[in-house]
Amino acid sequence: MNLIFLGAPGAGKGTQSVAVAEILNIPHISTGDIFRYNIKEGTPLGKEADSYISKGQLVPDDLTVSIVVDRLNKDDCKDGFILDGFPRTIYQAEALDKFMASVDKKIDYAVNIQVDEDSLVDRLSKRRFCPACSGTFHVDYTPLTSDDCPTCGAKLIQRKDDTPEVIKERLETYHEKTAPLTDYYSEKGCLLNVEGVPGIEKSLKNTLTALGIEK
Ligand code: ADP
Ligand code: ZN
Repeated sequence: MNLIFLGAPGAGKGTQSVAVAEILNIPHISTGDIFRYNIKEGTPLGKEADSYISKGQLVPDDLTVSIVVDRLNKDDCKDGFILDGFPRTIYQAEALDKFMASVDKKIDYAVNIQVDEDSLVDRLSKRRFCPACSGTFHVDYTPLTSDDCPTCGAKLIQRKDDTPEVIKERLETYHEKTAPLTDYYSEKGCLLNVEGVPGIEKSLKNTLTALGIEK
């Protein structure tokens, strides 16, 4: 299956798409993770991406599209993939469709995880991030006994873009640029709306049911 995950920052796209990719045994591709890795490594791409991400803005379309196309051309994507955080603009969605058509494939489903605005802000401001394994944990849901990552033991941090000012900006960017994608995929007939509350377990169940996957 070729899947994309839509949803506001904090909707749980990351957590859910990692889980679904594992169940389906297909690669999980997160543009946010790719950018954060490059920022950590101090690459030219990382420096450019950081200048947008730290302000809650989107990285420019052409740059983002070329990174994703390079990744999708890799061998491990030939039997399916999950895109997490891409596309985020109509321009990116059209570029993705063009690429898919050029390799005689299509996006099977766009999973849209729906979460109310108050829960989004709560989740973003209370989440901790593991720079080593890219795990994300919510301080209320995962019993964090220390600031060590429950998965790999590295020190957890708060993402720089999870501060109140940047959260506000990211949600505005989402409403302006990304929310219109639900109409785009709805018109194509492949949109699956999924309830992203109350917690991870329930919403993952909603997603698997919508996709017709038995766990
Ligand atoms: P979240 O969905 O929680 O905001 P992500 O890890 O998906 O987090 O993305 C973090 C940041 O990386 C975004 O706020 C944006 O600046 C940048 N980014 C990620 N994906 C894209 C994309 N497809 N196009 C442009 N910028 C992106
Ligand atoms: Zn970790």
